[in-house]
Amino acid sequence: MRYYSLNQSSPEVDFKTATLLGQAPDKGLYFPRQIPRLSDAWIHQLKSMSREAAAFDLIAPYVGDCIPRSVLQHMVAETIDFPIPLVKVHDALFSLELFHGPTLAFKDIGARFMSRCLRYFLSDTHEKVTVLVATSGDTGGAVAYGFYGVEGIEVVILYPSGRVSPLQERQLTTLGGNVRALEVEGSFDDCQALVKQAFADPDLRSRIQLSSANSINIARWLPQQFYYAFALQQWNEEQAPVVSVPSGNFGNLCAGVLAKQSGLPIQHFIAACNANDAVTQYLSTGHLPNQSVHSTLSNAMDVASPSNFVRLLEMMHHSWPEMKQQLSSYRISDTETLETLRRIYQTDGYILDPHGAVGVAAAEQYQLAHPKAPVIVLETAHPIKFSTVVEPCLHQTLEVPEAVRQLAQAAKKSIPVPAQYAAIKDQILKEN
Ligand SMILES: *Cc1c(COP(=O)(O)O)cnc(C)c1O
Repeated sequence: MRYYSLNQSSPEVDFKTATLLGQAPDKGLYFPRQIPRLSDAWIHQLKSMSREAAAFDLIAPYVGDCIPRSVLQHMVAETIDFPIPLVKVHDALFSLELFHGPTLAFKDIGARFMSRCLRYFLSDTHEKVTVLVATSGDTGGAVAYGFYGVEGIEVVILYPSGRVSPLQERQLTTLGGNVRALEVEGSFDDCQALVKQAFADPDLRSRIQLSSANSINIARWLPQQFYYAFALQQWNEEQAPVVSVPSGNFGNLCAGVLAKQSGLPIQHFIAACNANDAVTQYLSTGHLPNQSVHSTLSNAMDVASPSNFVRLLEMMHHSWPEMKQQLSSYRISDTETLETLRRIYQTDGYILDPHGAVGVAAAEQYQLAHPKAPVIVLETAHPIKFSTVVEPCLHQTLEVPEAVRQLAQAAKKSIPVPAQYAAIKDQILKEN
C-alpha cells in the first residue's frame, strides 16, 4: 500500500515510512492510495471468524510487505488482548465497551499497535526514536503504557499541570523507565503548540529522530477499524447498525468510515460532539467555523479544530451532500450529558462515562427522527476515569478496578517545566 499526503506535495511512501514520519514533510496527513475491498464472502463469514483473524485481514492490506505475515499476526493478537464486549443498554441501544485495556480508554488499541510497529521497524537498526506527544488526558496514558519498555524508543509526554484528572496523571507519571512526563505550567493548547514547535525545529530534528503518536499517525489510526468489526461479530439485529461516535479529533469516526468503505455493513454514522461542535456546524452550513476551545465535562473531546477532518473530507470526495447523507452530528451540552448519565443509570442500571453519555444523547436525538434504527454507541472510556463527574451525578460510589487501586500506591515522577520551548527542548535532548 502506498500513502499520499493530503497536502499533495510530498512523495508517496509505504506503511513503514508513513509510520516513522507520522506526518508528511509538507505537513499533510497520510492517506491510503486505495481503500481495500472486503469480499461478500468475508463479510458473510465474519461472525464465525476469530477476532484475531478478522483484525488481521482488516489491517494486512494497509501494511503490505513492510511487516512479515507471522509478525503482524502476533502484533495484532497482542494489541487486542482484552475483551471488547457489545452490551445491550435497552431496546435499540447498545454500548461497545472499548475501555477494558490497560489505561481504560479506547486509545489503548491504536497506541499498542503503533508501538509494536515502531519496535519492529527499529529492531534491525541501532536508531533511536523519540515519541513526543501532548496530552489533554487519555492519549498520554495510552502512549505511556503502549511504549513502556520498548527498546529504542524514548517517550516524552507533555501535559498541562493541574488540568488532567488524578487518575490520568497517575497513568502518565508512575511508569518511569523510557517514559518521561513533562508537567507543563500551562494549558493543553500550550503543550500542543510546544510539540508543534519541536517538530518544526530543524536543529532538534537533525539531532534526534522524532515521531508523533497521536491519531494523525496511520499506525495509530488504522487499527481503530478493528472494533467496528468486533461489534458486527456480536451483532444479532436484523438491520445493520448505526454507530454513534463521541468525537474530538475524529480519528475514531474516520476509522469507522474507512471500515465501512471497505465493506463492513454499517448503516450510518453519528458524530456525537460536545460544545466543540465544528463538524456539527459544518454539516448544517457547509462551512467549518473557526472557533476557540470550550472546556467541557467530556474533556477528551475538547478540540476546536479536529485534525482528522481532512481525512473525512477525502473519504466523502469533498462533497458536502455526500457527507450529510453518510453522517449526522449533534451538539450535546454538559447539562444534557449529566441528564443522560443519570437517566440511563436510573432506567437501565448502566453506568456511562461523560463521553459515552454524549454518544447516547446524540443517538437519542437521531432516533427521534429514525425511531426504529438500532444504534451502537462507542463507550470510549471507563466511568472510573471520570469519577469526579460520574459519582456526584449518580450519588453513587464507583467500584474501583484492581489496576486502578494499584496505581494509587505508585509514586508520581514528573518533571515540572515552564511553558517555554527552550526548557522543553533541553528536556527532550536530555536522554539522547
Ligand atoms: C480521545 C477520546 C475521544 C475522541 O476521539 P477522537 O478519535 O479524537 O475523535 C473520545 N473519548 C475519549 C474517552 C477519548 O479519550
